[in-house]
Amino acid sequence: MTPAMRARIEEAFGVTIAQGYGLNEIGLVAVRCGAGRYHVHVEHCWVEIVDDEGQPCAAGETGQLLVTGFRNAAMPLIRYDSGDLAIAETGPCPCGRTLPGFGAIIGRYRRYAYLPDNSMRYFRAILHALTDMPVTLCKPLRHFQLHQFRDHSFELRYLAIAALPPSFFDILRTAWEGVEPDNPLPLAFRAVDNLVQKGRKLQVFTSDFAPVSDNP
Ligand SMILES: [Zn+2]
Repeated sequence: MTPAMRARIEEAFGVTIAQGYGLNEIGLVAVRCGAGRYHVHVEHCWVEIVDDEGQPCAAGETGQLLVTGFRNAAMPLIRYDSGDLAIAETGPCPCGRTLPGFGAIIGRYRRYAYLPDNSMRYFRAILHALTDMPVTLCKPLRHFQLHQFRDHSFELRYLAIAALPPSFFDILRTAWEGVEPDNPLPLAFRAVDNLVQKGRKLQVFTSDFAPVSDNP
């Protein structure tokens, strides 16, 4: 679940989402508290957020999430690389819980490791613009997918059940150009009837730079 999805669901239903993080190999690893930190079930497993050299990340840094499980005898690997990237957190959590934890889960490492600089900043600009946009403007929107081409240009594919107003595109364009105001990367909009999907998950960001195995 992206931060944008969480914000929209919590606003629409007036409830807080308690989000878990787990791996098939380990089971449930951590649960996200109201302060936004994932508290680790240390009776069950141990989590480390490390840099490319395997050293612990400082608070606020993004690193690879390693898990050591204590209870699955069929999973004896120590410091198992989950393949996910997350933000390291240290010190007391505002929620009062004392279990160690980590911050936001950024996503799969292999999907982000090969992207050109600033790719995720552009993606987040679109996400934030959609999140903050008045619902009246984006009401017909059902799905979207930002795709990055090999020439560094992007295309926002969208599926809408009615015409979207010009201000919808103006807001996205303004957010996009705010990433690198002097020389923003090209962005095109394209209405589609359906979007490429991998398994049951719709990818909201796809890239020609990602490994082939990760593309739908
Ligand atoms: Zn907390």
